[in-house]
Amino acid sequence: MPRLDDAQIESLASKAWEARLNAYAPYSQFPVGAALLAADGRVFIGANVENASLGLSMCAERVAIGAAAAAGARSVIAIAVAGCDEQGVLPCGACRQVLNEFSPSVLVVQCRPDGAHTVTPLSQLLSSPFTGDSFERGRSGERDSVGAGQG
Ligand SMILES: [Zn+2]
Repeated sequence: MPRLDDAQIESLASKAWEARLNAYAPYSQFPVGAALLAADGRVFIGANVENASLGLSMCAERVAIGAAAAAGARSVIAIAVAGCDEQGVLPCGACRQVLNEFSPSVLVVQCRPDGAHTVTPLSQLLSSPFTGDSFERGRSGERDSVGAGQG
């Protein structure tokens, strides 16, 4: 399990709040910012980017992950998420799944407007992720053996 010191948490939280200022959220009016700490020490930011075709909207977390992946980062230590809900904002289910792809042990820093924050391992937020293991098992021939003898 990765560890974060207070200075790292404060720095990530600050960057998430800063990224939130660039959110494009004309439909929800709920800007969210994210700041992701990659294992190599680089920080990538994201903000939600909405679209009139609502299903095309992107969450701040996935924008940050996309930026990190496009820059070659493949392992994530933590992601801070900042939104103006007094309880803070946690990644949605889709973002949890996408975070899990790169780092099942990523720490999620839930930043609250009062400056407080909560750190939760992704594994607590997404206890049974879908993984590529299913593809491997599928290729092992189980399906073929099920169908064998029926042709
Ligand atoms: Zn999301």
